[in-house]
Amino acid sequence: MIYTIEKVTTLIGARRYGDRDCNVGFILTDSRSLCFPEETLFFALKSERNDGHNYIAELYRRGVRNFVVSDVPNNFASDYPDANFLRVVNTLEALQRLAERHRDEFNIPIVGITGSNGKTIVKEWLYQLLSDDMYVTRSPRSYNSQIGVPLSVWLLNKQTEIGIFEAGISEPGEMLALRDIIQPTIAVLTNLGSAHQENFKSKEAKCREKLILFHDAKTIVYNMDDEIINDTVESYNYSGEKITWSFKNPKATMFIKSVEKRKNDTVINYNFKDKEGKYILPFIDEASISNSIICAIVTLCLGVSTDVLSRRMAKLEPVAMRLEVKVGQHGCTLINDSYNSDVNSLDIALDFMNRRPDHKGRRHTLILSDIFQSGEKPENLYRDVSDLAYKRGVVKFIGVGPELKAHADQIQIPEKFFFSSVEQLINSEVFRSLRDEVILIKGARQFGFDQITELLVQKVHETILEVNLNAVVKNLNWYRSFMKPETKLVCMIKANAYGAGSVEIAKTLQDHRVDYLAVAVADEGVTLRRNGITSNIMIMNPEMTAFKTMFDYELEPEVYSFRLLEALIKAAEKEGITDFPVHIKLDTGMHRLGFDPINDMDKLIDRLKHQNAVIPRSVFSHFVGSDSDDFDDFSANQFALFDAGSKKLQAAFDHKILRHIDNSAGIEHFPERQLDMCRLGLGLYGINSRNNEIINNVSTLKTTILQMRHIPVGDTVGYSRKGTIEHDSVIAAIPIGYADGLNRHLGNRHCYCLVNGQKAEYVGNICMDVAMIDVTGIDCKEGDTVEIFGDHLPVTVLSDVLDTIPYEVLTNISDRVKRIYFQD
Ligand SMILES: *Cc1c(COP(=O)(O)O)cnc(C)c1O
Repeated sequence: MIYTIEKVTTLIGARRYGDRDCNVGFILTDSRSLCFPEETLFFALKSERNDGHNYIAELYRRGVRNFVVSDVPNNFASDYPDANFLRVVNTLEALQRLAERHRDEFNIPIVGITGSNGKTIVKEWLYQLLSDDMYVTRSPRSYNSQIGVPLSVWLLNKQTEIGIFEAGISEPGEMLALRDIIQPTIAVLTNLGSAHQENFKSKEAKCREKLILFHDAKTIVYNMDDEIINDTVESYNYSGEKITWSFKNPKATMFIKSVEKRKNDTVINYNFKDKEGKYILPFIDEASISNSIICAIVTLCLGVSTDVLSRRMAKLEPVAMRLEVKVGQHGCTLINDSYNSDVNSLDIALDFMNRRPDHKGRRHTLILSDIFQSGEKPENLYRDVSDLAYKRGVVKFIGVGPELKAHADQIQIPEKFFFSSVEQLINSEVFRSLRDEVILIKGARQFGFDQITELLVQKVHETILEVNLNAVVKNLNWYRSFMKPETKLVCMIKANAYGAGSVEIAKTLQDHRVDYLAVAVADEGVTLRRNGITSNIMIMNPEMTAFKTMFDYELEPEVYSFRLLEALIKAAEKEGITDFPVHIKLDTGMHRLGFDPINDMDKLIDRLKHQNAVIPRSVFSHFVGSDSDDFDDFSANQFALFDAGSKKLQAAFDHKILRHIDNSAGIEHFPERQLDMCRLGLGLYGINSRNNEIINNVSTLKTTILQMRHIPVGDTVGYSRKGTIEHDSVIAAIPIGYADGLNRHLGNRHCYCLVNGQKAEYVGNICMDVAMIDVTGIDCKEGDTVEIFGDHLPVTVLSDVLDTIPYEVLTNISDRVKRIYFQD
């Protein structure tokens, strides 16, 4: 739907500067995602760490003419002659107001979903259950925040027959705004878990906040077996229709009479408002069962019959939430998105592809299946797809499916190919000749696109390290929450990003605007530069032989001794370089590297003042034991030494020298010592070194079962007959050994891995490339996945057995283990 800029001005109550007539079709809050500048309205949002107003000039250059701002730029009339600035007090509230007014235009059922878990699954399953006969508009992926919800609701259009939106909150006071925007006619609370509990006084308080979504809804849906939820709802005088569900209480509107789990599915018998019904769900886990019950209720409320419901339930598909980045064959990178196929999620995936810098300037290719989206005429749908793909830089289009083939004319990409099926595609010359491309693979499940990925992915070894890029961002934000908004941040991605792979981690961090990346040696920095990383990069262990490289690639060295300083100055002078930024390290107690903060300072300052080849950009020191309270006195002493030494250095110069000492544990433990900048290392990778707990797990090391065999009592397994078998056993071999970084000391039943969620001990000595595990009594087969550590088995279990720290386990994973990156 299109709004004139005049209309928008009135709807959000803005004061308008500029008088150009414009139509607005797209809303933008992140300058990096710009696609259709002419029809875009940019909201300059202010967050703690960023200010959208800073991107106005750039967006104007790229063609955007409409801006919602709280501060109109000076000289707007001369600098931005044909632009409109809509001035409001608070730009986020204006965005929310616009979405709210847009929502008012629709007199259709709107489902609002909140809860601690399952929101996205319930939303996607409802879409699967309803989209056969209704045009559904829903939140893309998990857009459920203060910004995500207005952007989602904005997608409602004239064809929409039902809207389904998620509402997520993390703090008190947030739900009111979301409720006003969504105005649900049916409001659903999936469940109440422990997420974000730290921001609420009690579980009841969190429940009350979530239930604000229920006010004014015609129908509310909740689980009465949860006493907190039930009591909180009862304490409201809610006037609409309450639909409860329960496994125990026959008085519930939806009473689940029986749940029968079979091998691959679950049979559920229920009574809904005195109607009997039954469906078979093709999943067996508890969460899926609860989610399906909620979906059944909403579907029945919308008038779908019990028979139709059970037919559609049987066809429910898992919801893939992730975008995966994989190394492909022949110089290709694969971005695999098996999330439900529709235009909005296509746009998000294209945006993701675009935002990852690619040093080699490789071409962008899209492999897309038919899109099933009832309501839209295929001509229009595929024209929109073509437009999007073109604007987002796709130069090669490969369409799979009869519908795309029939509408090939609508696709206006220079290089385009069409196939009726995946089989046709993979047997074609087009497929065989994919070379040096970044390929986005996006297909509806029934097309079987996994075959495409499987064939294109580089096959080395069946052991992989999965790296969750979202978790990296969550950990980053967790640590940022201890820091003042203005404090800068260095992210330590030395040692190949603590094993996670520095290039992809650096891309993610750069996208989240960290101030500095730090690596150990110059070569690591060069790799980052060659892969398109433009952030500031610090080199912690600069080699004397690599100064020229550092100058060429703008890699800023740490300087810890007079010998290093002299050599660096000499090298810079030889190249005619001036003011090259360096980072001065002071030794306050680690006694590893660094200048003496008392005795070296005068000489250091004198030397720095009498040259202009290098310039101190920052000064820092490193805590010996910020992870343990036992060393608090020592840390205080280190800080005092650093404070004095660094202040002395600063006093000698006119320019600002950034001071920093906090590492991950320091950020959490001594936020008052954050100074100008902090250095985040292990915490970024999800491990809290203060308590050995996992914040958000980033890396999961996985492999598969190669072979299984029965071994009788008395026999042995592996080298030197170490693995004695004491009962008749089933032993599985897995393709991971000490050459992959699986420490030999884990063998001989000292540790275990997980096979289908169950513990399997290592039997006998771990070999170079293979290990044997005891799977006696575990339901498994050859080809099944084995988790060495990760989401279900914390890496700290391994490091504890090995009597070491998680850093060592992570950094020991060898290069031959393929890294796979994904994000939700
Ligand atoms: C590795 C490193 C860090 C990061 O330490 P963590 O404990 O991983 O947070 C910070 N500063 C310096 C100088 C480092 O070498």
